[in-house]
Amino acid sequence: MDDRASGAVLLLTTPSSYRLPAFLDAAGRLGVATVVAEDTPRALAGRARDRVELDFADLEAAIGAVVELAARAPLAAIIAVDDSGALLAARASAVLGLPHNSPESAEAARDKHVMRAAFARAGVPSPAFRLCSTGDDLEALARAVPYPCVVKPLRLNGSRGVIRADDPESFVAAARRIGRLLDRLEGPGPHPFLAETFIPGFEVALEGLIDRGRLQVLALFDKPDPLDGPFFEETIYVTPSRLAPGVQAAIVETAARAAAAVGLQRGPLHAELRVNERGPWMVELAGRTIGGLCSRTLQFGTDASLEELILRQAAGLPIESLSRAGSAGGVMMIPISQPGVLRGVAGQEEARAVSGVEDVEITAPLNYPLVPLPEGDSYLGFIFARGAEPAAVEAALRAAHARLSFRVLPEIPIV
Ligand code: ADP
Repeated sequence: MDDRASGAVLLLTTPSSYRLPAFLDAAGRLGVATVVAEDTPRALAGRARDRVELDFADLEAAIGAVVELAARAPLAAIIAVDDSGALLAARASAVLGLPHNSPESAEAARDKHVMRAAFARAGVPSPAFRLCSTGDDLEALARAVPYPCVVKPLRLNGSRGVIRADDPESFVAAARRIGRLLDRLEGPGPHPFLAETFIPGFEVALEGLIDRGRLQVLALFDKPDPLDGPFFEETIYVTPSRLAPGVQAAIVETAARAAAAVGLQRGPLHAELRVNERGPWMVELAGRTIGGLCSRTLQFGTDASLEELILRQAAGLPIESLSRAGSAGGVMMIPISQPGVLRGVAGQEEARAVSGVEDVEITAPLNYPLVPLPEGDSYLGFIFARGAEPAAVEAALRAAHARLSFRVLPEIPIV
């Protein structure tokens, strides 16, 4: 243990984060003190009682506020719980002399264009790409890009705004749709977006921990549902992977090269890859943990959570084991398939009763509008399962999902 462990860990998060409770839980178990700072636009400040409110978009002011915080009570480390805090964590850590990824690597792990450029420079297999703008002549662009292609905003996550286009007409429609989404989220455009070649193949997600630039794999998840578009909703993740050992080794090697290309030196790695007859391809990576509540599928050593490993590394505490404990595990993120208002959920007890199912958690609140992809940013809920084999886990998740039914009524416009 070094003396950093005596300070508090600052957790940077967002109001809608699914990940924060797992970090707070882990900190409680480890006896690590935490301070939570939530991304709050200035206009909304003054509401949270138990949290520090920082406007992550006003980076310089937010860095100043973190430095002030550290002057009042020492910080051991700063962790970005969600993507949005990654750059602030890196920049503020640099000012305070706390160990962290460099601001350049945090930026590359956050911005899909900077990331693709870093992969291309390092020769990491990744789709061909072109930086575009919603203000460009979209018809001319549509004639110039190869098909099928994928268009996407640079800085959203959870597949938000990611759309496949198979011809010029769908390209223009997709680019306009991204423009409208970004207008709503960020204010009037024009907005940059990326067009890249569609990489066919089987998708996997890798969870890792990077220590002094070395990648340690924590888990490799298969995504058995095809993700062919036009929108890319996540559903089932199952670990361990059923791919052949040689393919898994190639995936790990590609992810390690990708993390090095971006310059990540420490902390969590979440990487998405596709595998086809030409080998693994990087879809993207992020310096954070797996999304949603999915980390619940993972346990390490005797009983440590993924968040515990990350907090231990950040606070300079010893890590007992990086080996995943137990048998196969999996999660299903229940996608929102239609817009409307969620009025009821039936079959939860029946779904929980499916052999192998550990829990069913419906996270969408009743009586609120549901927004499907590509505009939406949440799920109906999560199903967790465990079993002797990955195939049994996948079957349990599908059986449980089949027992759930969601009553969604169309939203009545107020006139
Ligand atoms: P996000 O960070 O929002 O999740 P990604 O770039 O990872 O955005 O894209 C989300 C999903 O869209 C990926 O997991 C993958 O299924 C699909 N996807 C994105 N880009 C491509 C591509 N070039 N080829 C094929 N599928 C893609």
